[in-house]
Amino acid sequence: MSIVQLFNAIKREFSYNFGLGYAPPPESVTIEVDYNCMLRCQMCQMWNRDFKTLRIGDNEILSTHEMEGIIEELHSLGVKSLYFCGGEPFLRKDFLDIVKYCKSKGLYCSTISNGYLINSELAKHIVISGINSLGISLDSAHRELHDEIRGLKGSFDRAVEGIRLIKKYQREYNTELPEVFINTTISSRNFSTLPDVVELAKSLGVRRINFNYLSIVDDNTVERTNRAIGEKTIGLHTFSDIDPTYLLQDEQIDQLAIVMRDIKEKCGFEVTCDLDPALLNGNKDLLLEGKFPVSRCDIPWRSAMITPLGDVVPCAMFTDYKMGNVRETAFRKIWNNRRARSIRMLLGKNLPPICQKCCTVHRDTQPLWKRFYHRFLKQ
Ligand code: SF4
Ligand code: SF4
Repeated sequence: MSIVQLFNAIKREFSYNFGLGYAPPPESVTIEVDYNCMLRCQMCQMWNRDFKTLRIGDNEILSTHEMEGIIEELHSLGVKSLYFCGGEPFLRKDFLDIVKYCKSKGLYCSTISNGYLINSELAKHIVISGINSLGISLDSAHRELHDEIRGLKGSFDRAVEGIRLIKKYQREYNTELPEVFINTTISSRNFSTLPDVVELAKSLGVRRINFNYLSIVDDNTVERTNRAIGEKTIGLHTFSDIDPTYLLQDEQIDQLAIVMRDIKEKCGFEVTCDLDPALLNGNKDLLLEGKFPVSRCDIPWRSAMITPLGDVVPCAMFTDYKMGNVRETAFRKIWNNRRARSIRMLLGKNLPPICQKCCTVHRDTQPLWKRFYHRFLKQ
């Protein structure tokens, strides 16, 4: 961590704790590159509820040129890393051009994909692009189960083949990039076969698995959140009205910590879990309802998301809380404008109900002193 980063981290913590709403320039920004996807995952609304028509209408998504302008500005602001999400990012024909532009600025770039489009040609260009990290979603090591959860026959085979091809080109070009990892959403359906994902990862030469936990965002949570914020902040994008039986069941929650511990012990490489089972002690009832124990979140102080239409929103859940649009206003002016400060002040006082459905929060929202302790003192 550089002196500037440390200084900004202290300012951020101060602002968060004193409810000021101001934030120093972000460390990272998420850019949603498109809304399209060929899969029909049970837990996703990207393809459901007339999503595309309602969110995009006649509007055009940001062009390559506009993306480059945004990236240029973020870089000049001191942003160090960009996370690209979708939809399926590789459906955008210019996606790797955007990645290459980021890399030419020295930015850390990561994305997540369902792997469906990764044929030999694309795999080669992914490796050449120099993208730092690529997560491939695999919800099971079993073809039928993965395809059932992801809603498209053949999606397992294509994702697995995609990983193999990337590994092949990494060897050919003698590079470790991208770091390919497997992203698995834990649900009642795949719970009993989670250790098989480790075996699959090993057979593919993948050295990291990230497990995250399924949550359900229903109308009630959305309504209560919109009431708490005082305006419509959550849109269709955030809904996930999957069949509740997909949530972990009573006895599975009892076993979760043990299963995760066994997986970590056996696999011999990095396994991360967005929801640390240690947090679940005494919180079983919450999990049964698909909620997470959460008490703080400083993500909107550290990051923001830019939608395919250029709207800047506080995070991936508050997709209808528009702080500004980069087509009309520079990002630097949006970052601390009245709307940005006002949502931060609200979130600093009280997290609304939707935050209990957000797995991001468990990954990296610890107070500065805790992060410092884990990084420098614990070892
Ligand atoms: S692959 Fe991702 S974007 Fe596509 S339907 Fe599944 S969860 Fe949604
Ligand atoms: S917990 Fe999640 S939804 Fe709530 S503010 Fe943080 S990132 Fe956004």
